[in-house]
Amino acid sequence: MIDQHFTPSSAPDLLLRPHPSRHEGPRGYLLRLAEANCMTLSELGQLGIHFDSACLYRHQLLPDPALDPHLHAHVARVAQLAESKGRVWNMHHARFCPQCLAEDPTWQASWEIYFLDVCPKHGVWMVDQCGSCGQPLKWKRDSLLRCQCGSDLREETSGPAPDNLRRLAAILEDKLLHWPEGEAPTPLTRLDADQTLRLIRFLGTHMDPMATPRPLKLRNSGNLERSWPVSTLAAEIIFQWPEGFHQALNQLQANSSGEKKGLRDTFQHAYTYLYKGFKEAGFSDVRKAFEEWITVHWKGGVAGRNRRLPELIQKNAQWIPGTVAAHELGISLKQLRRLITEGNVEWEEFLSTAGRKFLMVRRDQLVQIQEQLSGEITMEKAMEMLGLGKVRMQRLLTLLFPSARRIWDKEHLPWRIPRGEVEALLEVVTDLPVLTIAEEHQVSLGYVLKFWHWTGDEILALVEAVKAGTLKPQAFQDGARGISRWIFEVSQLRSLQQRLNSGRSNWVSIPEMARILGLNQQVAYWLTHHGFVHAERLGHIGSRVSREELERFQQKHVLGKEIAAILGCSSKKMSLMLAEQGIYPLRGEGPNPCRMLIYTRDSELQRFLAQITGSDPGEFRLVGFRGFSVNIQ
Ligand SMILES: [Zn+2]
Ligand SMILES: [Zn+2]
Repeated sequence: MIDQHFTPSSAPDLLLRPHPSRHEGPRGYLLRLAEANCMTLSELGQLGIHFDSACLYRHQLLPDPALDPHLHAHVARVAQLAESKGRVWNMHHARFCPQCLAEDPTWQASWEIYFLDVCPKHGVWMVDQCGSCGQPLKWKRDSLLRCQCGSDLREETSGPAPDNLRRLAAILEDKLLHWPEGEAPTPLTRLDADQTLRLIRFLGTHMDPMATPRPLKLRNSGNLERSWPVSTLAAEIIFQWPEGFHQALNQLQANSSGEKKGLRDTFQHAYTYLYKGFKEAGFSDVRKAFEEWITVHWKGGVAGRNRRLPELIQKNAQWIPGTVAAHELGISLKQLRRLITEGNVEWEEFLSTAGRKFLMVRRDQLVQIQEQLSGEITMEKAMEMLGLGKVRMQRLLTLLFPSARRIWDKEHLPWRIPRGEVEALLEVVTDLPVLTIAEEHQVSLGYVLKFWHWTGDEILALVEAVKAGTLKPQAFQDGARGISRWIFEVSQLRSLQQRLNSGRSNWVSIPEMARILGLNQQVAYWLTHHGFVHAERLGHIGSRVSREELERFQQKHVLGKEIAAILGCSSKKMSLMLAEQGIYPLRGEGPNPCRMLIYTRDSELQRFLAQITGSDPGEFRLVGFRGFSVNIQ
């Protein structure tokens, strides 16, 4: 906040007011400011000056924000980082690049954080010890550019460092200063400066084959002598990701193999840190690489003596071995591979260095599958519960259950329907008398679905009216299931339909008739042409058929292929068998036969079928048009 009560008289007694630069560090700037005013850092502190944009602006140490918004942003960001992420800053040891300092006599912000051990620009080691007096360089000194012994820091010399370490330092500096210079490689891509430092510390200490049991308690890591082995190892691992990480883990395991402690002990702290310390999403690349490695060694080296994954990994791993996934789902590995080929599970297969193939799957997706298995049902199950046939169900599904979806929303995968919604619909109507035969003035929903040719919207309106209580079923049809057993007053349904379709024609075109009956159009035209379905000609624009006429035709006929299905033989064999009995399909006059075998649904046919299949003629059921079971009347 900028102090609105600022008056010149309240300004402290600063003689010179140099502004910070856009890459300058907080302590370096304050020391430069103190030195310019012949003060010490603590005297500056007593004046209430600290590295904060409002404070610096109040003391006229920053220009107007409008003049240099980038500088204000830099100061604000560094101040915020100093406040919230204290662990980033190397407070006890001052370090610098002598070449940079010779080019520009200011102290860079990146020099003040941990593990920046090499100058990103010059590729030389940082310096934190005076070449003249041999003492560690202190912050408590009089001059920014001189050691506390008085020797000029710009005269120090430093040797070249490994290039991977220079690359790591450059990435660290970019992240600290928010310079989107270049995309950082995996696993650093999504890490901020603080997270990058934590990863460096982890890799450089835990992956050290000589590591102490609790290596994260690294003492004095601000000291270059302590920090460079850590950052160097981390850089080598990071820039050969993930192989470098896997090799380091192999090395650790090899070192512990002669001893009694197993993988669990060796990696106790490592994977505790991976799953508890690296919780942020940005670390997922690190965890995944570890899980890949564990997969190989769980299957291989560890399998003999420890078939279970370490518990922490069981609980937290994002990627798990295919064998573990199959076990958790209660399915075989073969079934898991089928789910994979159907696209239900995200997976990866990779080769171990020994050339073995390993399958890994995303663990969170298994949870989804499990939820599906318990909370959702297949379309077949929903059809059974509701008492609907397949064709009708396909047309009504998304109307009745808008939250039904295909697995993974993929067009070719099966439907999944929330069980609760299906059950809720069935519970709307309970405790009604059961009728063997509906009264004259009544009709079951099953019958309506079969013969009334209602549209999906009409069925939906009926179901909604029942749910709302404005339309009440009178009874249940004995032997029917689900909603198809609801029995209504015919007059109620007719008036519902009229309300919906006031003005809508009760006629269908020939192509529509073909669709309703499940015939191809040629057959539909043949039926009207030969008078089996009565069509009314409409001048030049074609013909139309009434819905009542369709209902009549459908009740009196059956497709040959459906009889063949009952007999379990080919259509040709079926037609020969029926011909022997003197039963023939529909035949017209003239040279063109009907392209489909359609039979009259009469008592002769019924008797023959009952005889062949050994059923009681009265109970015999034929599959009617479009897959609905109907009784032969
Ligand atoms: Zn430099
Ligand atoms: Zn010195």
